Amino acid sequence: MTARRFVLLDRDGTLNIERHYISDPDLVELYPGAGAALRELRAKGFGLAVVTNQSGIARGLIRPDQLERVHARLAELLEAEGVTLDGIYVCPHGPDSDCDCRKPRPGLVAQAVRDFGFAPADSFVIGDKGIDIDLGRGVGAATVLVRSGYGRETEAKKLASPDHVADDLAGAAAWIAERALHP
Ligand SMILES: [Mg+2]
Ligand SMILES: [Zn+2]
Repeated sequence: MTARRFVLLDRDGTLNIERHYISDPDLVELYPGAGAALRELRAKGFGLAVVTNQSGIARGLIRPDQLERVHARLAELLEAEGVTLDGIYVCPHGPDSDCDCRKPRPGLVAQAVRDFGFAPADSFVIGDKGIDIDLGRGVGAATVLVRSGYGRETEAKKLASPDHVADDLAGAAAWIAERALHP
């Protein structure tokens, strides 16, 4: 096991602006301050991985090559902010699939753990939906709900029980940095 702790991030509505089934790289837009927030986490030694459900693949709304280009664009935008992700983990399956990777199931976290050997219980999960928070709780991680994307609705309808609620990724990063220092 490496000593590096990981922050597992949802993609749409958390890192980039929520837009239904993004298949066009031009529609990828980071939230203001998202790049700086991840840069701060990186500087503090955290590993960073995106975990994302992309059922648009199973539904035939996004082709795999389009998803690759969307993620290349995401990497390019982050690189411009001085940030590199350790990985992007995707569930391409639909809601009726019995795959083990569609959030809130833990398969994407298991894939990241196989690649990097971190302890899920020492990691953090950030997202805007109940499935993100449930994923984190399921693997024993600390969880942060962001009020971007569907986050406000998730909070208002009490669809999740996160350890913390933050306005955005910057607020989530600040809480995580503090919590990592003083558990
Ligand atoms: Mg989301
Ligand atoms: Zn899956």
